[in-house]
Amino acid sequence: MIITEQKPLDEILAILEGHESVFLVGCPICATTWGTGGEPQLRQMKAALEAAGKRCVGTLMPEESTCDQRTTRLMLRRSKEALEQADAVLVLACGAGTQTVAALVDVPTYPANNTLYLARLQSLMVSDERCRLCGECVLAETGGICPVTLCAKGLANGPCGGYRDGKCEVDGTQDCAWVLIYRRLHELGQEERFQVIREPKDWSKARHPRLIDKRLEGEKGESTKGGAQPAPSPGPSQREGKRKGGEA
Ligand code: SF4
Ligand code: SF4
Repeated sequence: MIITEQKPLDEILAILEGHESVFLVGCPICATTWGTGGEPQLRQMKAALEAAGKRCVGTLMPEESTCDQRTTRLMLRRSKEALEQADAVLVLACGAGTQTVAALVDVPTYPANNTLYLARLQSLMVSDERCRLCGECVLAETGGICPVTLCAKGLANGPCGGYRDGKCEVDGTQDCAWVLIYRRLHELGQEERFQVIREPKDWSKARHPRLIDKRLEGEKGESTKGGAQPAPSPGPSQREGKRKGGEA
């Protein structure tokens, strides 16, 4: 799950300065579950903006994740009338969802949320970061515990000399990831994996922006490009909605 937090209202109002009529978009997946972009948050944001003198011309909760361009495009098309009255769109989703909407409409589109991390959801109130999307997963070697994310130094081999009583030297409230890894490998009878000296991580796999085109599968033997491949810019034909007086 992508974890987001809502920006302070003051910041949102500053972002929307100069805009009078706002269209709101939520996200039915991560932001709904985490309480930063569901129906209740759309209602609260609408009320807050109206209390601040803005006009909320419509709200949209896509049927699928907001970052799914296919369904979001369709849903925005259905909201064309309301969008025509909007001079700004505010998206209560993650950064990917906001950018998806921004590429589909012709009015300024702004984030209501800060996007924090990719998490395990322990409960509806507690999440913890579990993956930094490094592009080359080592969980098979580390007992299913990610050192890239859970070690404060992201060490490929650990522990460092600083851990004390199983805790990390960087943050004494956190368990040392490499102690956790050792204990888990011991439980699994895979201690020999702890002896392996790993090469420094190949961060080229995590270069940005990454793009995968699965249509290329079979053509070049692979479809994943770890390196930078600029995503195609949205052309006018991809856009939905319109500026006042413009064409959808
Ligand atoms: S090793 Fe990389 S891909 Fe695997 S969980 Fe950790 S950050 Fe994510
Ligand atoms: S104490 Fe453990 S978790 Fe903390 S930086 Fe050192 S190896 Fe990483």
